[in-house]
Amino acid sequence: MLKIVDLSASINNKIILNNINLNINYNEVHVLMGPNGSGKSTLSSLIAGKTEFSIIKGQILFEKQNITYLSPEEIAQRGIFLSFQDPIEIPGISILNFIKYSINEIRKSQKLKAISSKDFLKKVYKVSKIIGFNKAFLSRYMNCGFSGGEKKRCEIFQMGMIEPKLAILDEIDSGLDLDALKIIANGILRLKNKKTSLLIITHYNRVLKFITPDKIHILYKGKMIKSGTKNLALKIEKYGYEGLKKYL
Ligand code: ADP
Ligand code: MG
Repeated sequence: MLKIVDLSASINNKIILNNINLNINYNEVHVLMGPNGSGKSTLSSLIAGKTEFSIIKGQILFEKQNITYLSPEEIAQRGIFLSFQDPIEIPGISILNFIKYSINEIRKSQKLKAISSKDFLKKVYKVSKIIGFNKAFLSRYMNCGFSGGEKKRCEIFQMGMIEPKLAILDEIDSGLDLDALKIIANGILRLKNKKTSLLIITHYNRVLKFITPDKIHILYKGKMIKSGTKNLALKIEKYGYEGLKKYL
């Protein structure tokens, strides 16, 4: 589904990502870990089409098509969803209007009619119930005055409503206490449909208490230094990222 081939990127002449390779198939859950500043958010931004980075070499393929230089809108229309590490506040537009607009823009690109109000509200009811999202939130302006945890919940609400093929969740666990993390993690798993793949980005392994990934990758100083399964996270817990330096 997603294939990243030998991707290197820089910003202001500083190399941030160095020869990244990554393969994600349908219905797989991948976790990308690494200390702060290793390039995780940069990689997610690049996949989602942000243009402030210079691509030095390499390609990003999605469903066998080259999406490396597509716009964020085109990438979203193809079924990639990115939840932000730090979601921004958008005064003047309610969550419901924002989501309805997003869904309809994607549908328009697929030559589908706008979603009916009935179907939309049915979906809103289902998704907000799964993530324990209080209805009062839905008419509030996007993220305005939300706590860190509420912003994260709002991101997952969007994921559940949009039903992407690939959801990239950047630090979805940060700022959450264990109970909130459990609700969010279970929500993510329930909202993910059969074909959806997830790329969960984190620097803690506590999300792994609730979600068992097919693969874990470690990004360190811009390099993908190791991939493995749950055992790899246990090693990090034991030795810290510093202990993985030998793979550099
Ligand atoms: P992570 O998400 O793993 O914590 P980031 O991808 O946010 O890491 O950052 C990787 C590196 O890229 C850091 O050294 C950061 O300072 C640098 N970086 C990210 N965005 C910019 C930017 N807009 N301008 C300059 N440097 C940046
Ligand atoms: Mg980050």
